[in-house]
Amino acid sequence: MSKILIVLYPDPVTGYPPEYARDTIPSINDYPGGATLPSPQALDFTPGELLGCVSGGLGLRDWLESEGHTVVVTSDKEGPDSVFERELPDADIVISQPFWPAYLTPERIEKARNLKLVVTAGIGSDHTDLDAANARGITVAEVTYSNSISVAEHTVMQVLVLVRDFVKQHEISAAGGWNIADAVERSYDLEGMRVGVFAAGRIGRAVIERLAPFGVHLSYTDRFRLSEDYERKYNLTYHDSIESLVQNIDVLTVHAPLTAETRGLLNTELLNTMPRGAYIVNPARAAIADRDAIVQALESGQLAGYAGDVWDPQPAPVDHPWRTMPHNAMTPHTSGTSLSGQARYAAGTREILEDWFAGNDIRPEYLIVEGGSYKGVGATSYAKVPTKADEGQAELSQATS
Ligand code: NAD
Repeated sequence: MSKILIVLYPDPVTGYPPEYARDTIPSINDYPGGATLPSPQALDFTPGELLGCVSGGLGLRDWLESEGHTVVVTSDKEGPDSVFERELPDADIVISQPFWPAYLTPERIEKARNLKLVVTAGIGSDHTDLDAANARGITVAEVTYSNSISVAEHTVMQVLVLVRDFVKQHEISAAGGWNIADAVERSYDLEGMRVGVFAAGRIGRAVIERLAPFGVHLSYTDRFRLSEDYERKYNLTYHDSIESLVQNIDVLTVHAPLTAETRGLLNTELLNTMPRGAYIVNPARAAIADRDAIVQALESGQLAGYAGDVWDPQPAPVDHPWRTMPHNAMTPHTSGTSLSGQARYAAGTREILEDWFAGNDIRPEYLIVEGGSYKGVGATSYAKVPTKADEGQAELSQATS
């Protein structure tokens, strides 16, 4: 029997909702390209319920306890006296979400002597030190594709929110105002703009496909070039580096994982090579951008707007400068945790656990590291230097996506 430590964001301040805005969520049959949705043997929740907070418990508690496992669900994750830190030493499995990440640093992994499996209920496992996990042979898995479309939709929304300057217009309306000139002095059409996509994985491609009908000029960079057919279909221009990509665009969207290569990439030097008045939407990871460089670029007018939903650290401190910097349209980390997304990643987490307890292989598209090295999707998204073997994995990943 295992001890499972689940770290989730706190319940709503008004308590777990007695009723939802809608009675159902649409049922999705497969992901783009035909990749299959999570297929656990059973579900103990109704899709559309709030699952990502402590009382929701990812819909796992009853099932796990009925199987004889010990389950601890908490949102208390920071500092030596936190429940997470206290419960970690004998935990076999840790589950958390990127929205409220249980940071598994090398020191914490060292303390967690029983730890064998870390599950990201969602996508993006950078809150686990993957080198330390590899050194200990810990398996790290995430629920690939579960919220990719959720994030792509949020990205498109934030691009429009910035370019149209929605936030100010809404504030004027809510405050009883009607000064149209104030409301539109920074408002443009997206049509005709040049949009650059940094990393064309599942989310990046979904953004490309959703923005194409807006009549924009699309370009992208990625470690792996997309097929000629795909580039032709979306009239995509490929750049072999982010430095080249950002020089001739009006909007940059960011969809790379946080790795040693991408950390701090959006720094002052790079921002200064963008056309004045460019916009950035970053729903990938905050640390890909230099926090203060973004603030300065907005203050100087080099950037016309910045949006995203990822912060460093999370939760962001109350005085984090991105909360109040000019022309931001930030949200807390919500893009991937819509009620629709929660249903999919909770089901995927259950599927991973069912396979783990049964001794079955975890799907390759869920695996990040296993047995001391990057595996499955982890080999293409997180491994440092792509090798021939990784290219094979990339083909596998493109084929299954
Ligand atoms: P993915 O694995 O499908 O795509 C990642 C892409 O990044 C791959 O195509 C890879 O080749 C490319 N890449 C990696 N390193 C690169 C580099 N140095 N230069 C250029 N390209 C590089 O992942 P995805 O599902 O599209 O998710 C992307 C990221 O988005 C995740 O790693 C996660 O951090 C973030 N994410 C955020 C949320 C949210 O709620 N805001 C939800 C899901 C994922």
